[in-house]
Amino acid sequence: MPRDYYEVLGVGRSADGDAIKKAYRRLAKQYHPDTNKDDGAADKFREATEAYQILNDPDMRARYDRYGHAGVQQAQAGGFGGAGFGDFTEIIEEMFSGFGGFGASGRRSRRSPRPGRDIPYTMNLTFEESIFGVEKEIEINRLEVCDVCSGSGAEPGTQPRTCVECNGSGEIRRVRQMFLGNMVEVVPCPRCSGSGKIIDTPCHECKGATQVRRNRKLKVKVPGGVDDSTRIRVSQEGEPGENGGPNGNVQIFFKVQPHEFFRRRENDIILDLRINVAQAALGAAIQVPTVDGEEPLSIPAGTQSGKVFTLRGHGAPKIRSDGTSISRGDELVVVQVVIPHKLTNEQKQLFEELGRTLGAEPEPQKVGKGFFDRVMEFFSGEG
Ligand SMILES: [Zn+2]
Ligand SMILES: [Zn+2]
Repeated sequence: MPRDYYEVLGVGRSADGDAIKKAYRRLAKQYHPDTNKDDGAADKFREATEAYQILNDPDMRARYDRYGHAGVQQAQAGGFGGAGFGDFTEIIEEMFSGFGGFGASGRRSRRSPRPGRDIPYTMNLTFEESIFGVEKEIEINRLEVCDVCSGSGAEPGTQPRTCVECNGSGEIRRVRQMFLGNMVEVVPCPRCSGSGKIIDTPCHECKGATQVRRNRKLKVKVPGGVDDSTRIRVSQEGEPGENGGPNGNVQIFFKVQPHEFFRRRENDIILDLRINVAQAALGAAIQVPTVDGEEPLSIPAGTQSGKVFTLRGHGAPKIRSDGTSISRGDELVVVQVVIPHKLTNEQKQLFEELGRTLGAEPEPQKVGKGFFDRVMEFFSGEG
């Protein structure tokens, strides 16, 4: 005994035409065998279609309401004349345009050009290379059009022949038996897998696949100023596109090795520098390492720990969005005054002499004026 048609569509007995149409559209979308491969989906689709055919036709619906399934079976046997059929195909077409695999739009999406996949590559750089830029050769593995058969898939000297099943179109029309007659649907040709061609003697290199994996070397110019967050794209060197679509890109990510002394903060380079008490107290002219070599730095008398000196233009270049480098950041020298913890007898004596001339009272610091406050202030950009 078939299920009640209203129950199948999940609508009430007083549902109007629109509600019935809407309910059927939802079920058809859910259970259409082209999109739903579950066991029983096809049966559910057929059941919903049958219910819709009856309830969408006022005459048949009246008969069903009055006599139940028996009332409409009689009409079916008598060659139900196609009332509402146009409406039905319209719904199916409307439904499946838009999500591929059925009808004209499905064909388009299968054969439309699609760009190839991107290939990611992580490049290791020394700190100096990241600052000044470098040209490096990298090796990637990608699919390429087979050069033995030029992408035909057939052994050189032979030709693929046109598939007789589909006459080279790559698709066949299949008639599906529906409740109210036949429905024609278009599916990829099973014989040639939709290519339209049969290869009798596959190319020995690609085994008929038309593409092969190759290792390729690429020269990559890395601009100065990159860091671990920079990504560089090498255009169209990725996997091949489909149906004439463009190749994908190679996306280069960077891993910069930490430096012994320097670290990056955006475009600035930070150097922690220890000076001794005498240099801090008396001032000193010293040489400071930068990525460009030693640079003179004048430490004024009375320099405190946490003081930051700026060496303009000795930082990392800024990278513009077009990949070129422009003006450089600065080197920030953060000074730490070192208190010696091992003194010779002579130094000890000198400190004792010094100590007698300095005040002996410890001096509490107001909140916000200490060493850490100064460093934090500077690095939060307020200094
Ligand atoms: Zn080949
Ligand atoms: Zn075919």
